[in-house]
Amino acid sequence: MQYYSLNHNAPNVSFSEAVIKGLAPDRGLYFPEKITPLPPSFFDTIEDIDNVEIAYQAIKQFVGDEVPEVELRDILKDVLNFDFPVVDVENNIGTLELFHGPTMAFKDVGARFMARCLGYFNRNNEHQVTVLVATSGDTGGAVANGFLGVKGVDVVILYPKGKVSDIQEKQLTTLGQNITALEVDGVFDDCQDMVKTAFLDNAITDHKQLTSANSINVARWLPQLLYFIFAYKQVKYKKKDIIFSVPSGNFGNICAGVVAQKLGLPVKHFVASTNVNDTVVRYLKTSNYEPKPSKATISNAMDVGNPSNFIRIQKLFNNDFDGLKNAFSAFSFDDNQTKQAMKKVYSDAGYIADPHGAVGYLGLKEIELQDSDYGIFLETAHPVKFLDTVEETLAVKVEIPAQIQEILHKEKQSIPINSYEKLKEFLLK
Ligand SMILES: *Cc1c(COP(=O)(O)O)cnc(C)c1O
Repeated sequence: MQYYSLNHNAPNVSFSEAVIKGLAPDRGLYFPEKITPLPPSFFDTIEDIDNVEIAYQAIKQFVGDEVPEVELRDILKDVLNFDFPVVDVENNIGTLELFHGPTMAFKDVGARFMARCLGYFNRNNEHQVTVLVATSGDTGGAVANGFLGVKGVDVVILYPKGKVSDIQEKQLTTLGQNITALEVDGVFDDCQDMVKTAFLDNAITDHKQLTSANSINVARWLPQLLYFIFAYKQVKYKKKDIIFSVPSGNFGNICAGVVAQKLGLPVKHFVASTNVNDTVVRYLKTSNYEPKPSKATISNAMDVGNPSNFIRIQKLFNNDFDGLKNAFSAFSFDDNQTKQAMKKVYSDAGYIADPHGAVGYLGLKEIELQDSDYGIFLETAHPVKFLDTVEETLAVKVEIPAQIQEILHKEKQSIPINSYEKLKEFLLK
């Protein structure tokens, strides 16, 4: 499989090159040259196929022959060793829980898949890389956990000071080894801009192979398409039309959902649910794409003013604005609405949603669900990751799971930086 740059000004590359480079030299995102639908029999019999086999069938065309079948199956088996349950919340609404992995947010699958692919590409120590990643909260923890101890890979995480939750901060600052956390005096967009600038800075790239572990990296982004297939496998017996509502920030997850649909997954409609960072919502109303600086919210993993992956979604719809609008809606909600939704879901269904899941729930509520529809909102993080907000809003005590308990007592280690120059200095030293 070859990947091309969506800026159309860089050579095509193989899967391994796309993973190692992250972003194309012309700053474009890599995009698969071709997406071949899976045979209808795959979806017809999906309830009988185990998750690793599903994953192998769905992912192999994107990897091509660069990871041999046996290794690819091993990687997938290792990456997918936890559950992805769909839980009924209301009559026609369920939630797909994506938080049963080691850092309790959905990014574990993509981060672990990417780490293991890089580990494989570097099996002969030929491809030493530095993973440079900006996080609005959860990416950092998932990447730190996924890449910890991976041979030939150094990880540098930039996160906005004071804008991630305590648990998120612990997850990305306490591991040590090949993981370094840089605490940036700024917002997420500043972190993301610094990362993008570093990729283009020859003074750095002449010395170091940099790559990204944000969802711009194809190995981080594509495995997320599996979630939508796993959800379908579980609810197919209901014989309903499925509408997915995806709490969205950089729009990587929902974009992977659209890829799953291209593979033949039956999906009636996608809803992108955002907090007040509403660039895509405004775009669908006005057809003007006007990014704005991000604003801090209680669903901080979605505080993104200029979502990187939206360009891939446009491409998946052949840049057809009307086609996109028919298949894809977007809604924005403020923190107050989010808290009201958390309360409603808890009082009506006894379900504790985190702020991101609650935004997803609100998005579904904007759609008039028919009796023949089943709406699924993605629960992208465990409520414990947003402990203060959840406990305060719902007046409940959330039990802290063992994998979080473990890190709470560890000491934070981070390096404060306040400019691009400081990042550069760090990378060159
Ligand atoms: C990263 C994240 C999101 C946003 O996902 P995107 O792929 O960037 O749209 C939503 N919820 C949580 C909890 C996250 O960590």
